Amino acid sequence: MSDPICCVCQEPAGPSAKELGGRWYCAAHYERATKDRRGLWQAGVAQIVGLLALVGLVELLVALVHPQLEGVWLMVASVVMALVPALVWLSFFYQQDRLEPEPKGYVLGVFLLGGLLAMAVALPLTRDVFHTASWLGMSPLVNIAGSILVVGAIHEFLKYAAVRYFVYPMAEFDERIDGIVYGTAAGLGFATALNIEYVLRSGGVDLQAGIISVVVVALAQASFAGVTGYFLGRAKFEHRPIWWMPAGLALASALNGLFTYLRGEVTRGGISLTAGGGHNPWPGLILATVVAVAVFATLSILMRRANQKALAQTAGGAQ
Ligand SMILES: [Zn+2]
Repeated sequence: MSDPICCVCQEPAGPSAKELGGRWYCAAHYERATKDRRGLWQAGVAQIVGLLALVGLVELLVALVHPQLEGVWLMVASVVMALVPALVWLSFFYQQDRLEPEPKGYVLGVFLLGGLLAMAVALPLTRDVFHTASWLGMSPLVNIAGSILVVGAIHEFLKYAAVRYFVYPMAEFDERIDGIVYGTAAGLGFATALNIEYVLRSGGVDLQAGIISVVVVALAQASFAGVTGYFLGRAKFEHRPIWWMPAGLALASALNGLFTYLRGEVTRGGISLTAGGGHNPWPGLILATVVAVAVFATLSILMRRANQKALAQTAGGAQ
């Protein structure tokens, strides 16, 4: 009988070979692939709280100081604001990373790639090829369908591509949970690009409404990419059925589209859509927070359960 080969290092796995989802692992790579990282979930919760605190801080500052920013200064302040969720995330990530290191270059690379794909592909495609602005508002049904099948699908496929065709085949992607780490990085890069584009297109934004919008987009885009990342993480280390990855992308696209539609509905208050006064961003922030908490709690439970199952199999199996 030939010795099973570890699917990560391609070395003979020896007598301590372990099986996970139909593939063989050496003892060391099995342990890495199924590692549960409590610190990561704690950092995730801390980031959501941190972003909400940031909204509170900006609202308070603007209410107290009443800054009269115009022109270039408003633009600079708006762009800085658009960058803040990414900076908050990176600082939490690097903090947590001292305990359980992840190759920083790749995390940053996925983040930048997500942003680049948003700028170079997602925005031109939805705006100039699909002209979504001209028809999404036709009816609620058209809006929901278009938000899922066009906008959601384009967004989520590009975030998927940023991970799948860059870091996924590499040795640095060595834990199932890495899918969620890199997915979130791609989603946040994507969100940052959308936010910067929004700020530049508007020529600077009202800071109080702007900070809410920036945080909503960051929470939402990172959450949906986290879903795709979960599917990617399991696909790399286990044999999954052929529908696995398409199902993951479809789920992320559906969440993205439904969120975009619902956000539009809950923030549209009052009489006029164009006269600013009819727009209330707060319900959008509540919606985004609920979505982010629900997605990360679900992924945390699913991942922990998968890892416990693997451990139980090991304990009950050979030796
Ligand atoms: Zn190995």
